Amino acid sequence: MYENTLKYLTLAVRNIYYLLKNSLALMSVNKNIDPNELSPLSNLDEWEDDVLQRYPDPGSIAQGKTTAEYRNYEAPVRDTVREFYRLNHQYQSYDFVLQKRADFLQFNKKQMPVWDAFQFLNQLVDDSDPDTDLDQLQHLLQTSEAIRADGHPDWMVLTGLVHDMGKVLCLFGEPQWAVVGDTFPVGCAFSNKIVYPEFFDQNPDSKDERYNTQYGVYSHGCGLRNVHMSWGHDEYVYHMVKDYLPESALYMLRYHSFYSQHRENAYDHLMDDHDRAMFKWVQLFNPYDLYSKNPYPPDWKQLRPYYEDLAAKYLPEVLKF
Ligand code: FE
Ligand code: FE
Repeated sequence: MYENTLKYLTLAVRNIYYLLKNSLALMSVNKNIDPNELSPLSNLDEWEDDVLQRYPDPGSIAQGKTTAEYRNYEAPVRDTVREFYRLNHQYQSYDFVLQKRADFLQFNKKQMPVWDAFQFLNQLVDDSDPDTDLDQLQHLLQTSEAIRADGHPDWMVLTGLVHDMGKVLCLFGEPQWAVVGDTFPVGCAFSNKIVYPEFFDQNPDSKDERYNTQYGVYSHGCGLRNVHMSWGHDEYVYHMVKDYLPESALYMLRYHSFYSQHRENAYDHLMDDHDRAMFKWVQLFNPYDLYSKNPYPPDWKQLRPYYEDLAAKYLPEVLKF
């Protein structure tokens, strides 16, 4: 009894210590960001809804929603979405990316058992927005279940389940535009095939001779492993699980929001043969992410044993954040 109380007390003190330490660290990293510029979207799904409007091509895997329901050309882009891209394009510079990598790739913020991590991620639900009908875990399960239904290997099913785990960055106080949004290389010219290219005018790298040429700090065919991508949930989750999943899974995670390449081929000049071969996996994954959303929430209770076994097969018991 006494031992248990002591254990809980120690845990509580340790958690408070880490919370304080992390808040201080975040305050110093984000001190230059205007608090009004942290959350332009009413919720993270607004960005994904916009991607869906740009690429309304569900193919055959969507369940529960017709093609026509996905297509919504009439709906104007919300001001919040425009504002989101404006901030994203303005602030995602080469230096910003290096700074975020140096901070978050230490994975010293928090440690959570896999299922606690999903509960943690689910705090991102925004009840005030009537358009948000699914929480994060439901989107992840719909993605993974669509992959499983098509008979793909189990590591790809697990990839579907964890692909947006990096969105926990928002819960560490990161601005939305440094968590979600289309990703793109930094350190070289921004392609005009990236959505809202005009907003890059405000990015300091556009005027920096080191970074504003076609190749910038890179060279022809140098391979994406040598290229820094804009910072967000893709790069973060890739590093989180890179020791545990096959390389094809890692490409899916790392480049799933790199629409200017996997949909527009805007950065062929930086890719090597290996990237080209591996991007087939990114392309295979993308429709499951984008078009598996439907109004019917998966039955988590029934699915849980399968996913617990699957996570235990590949991932460590505790994930580092
Ligand atoms: Fe994502
Ligand atoms: Fe997703």
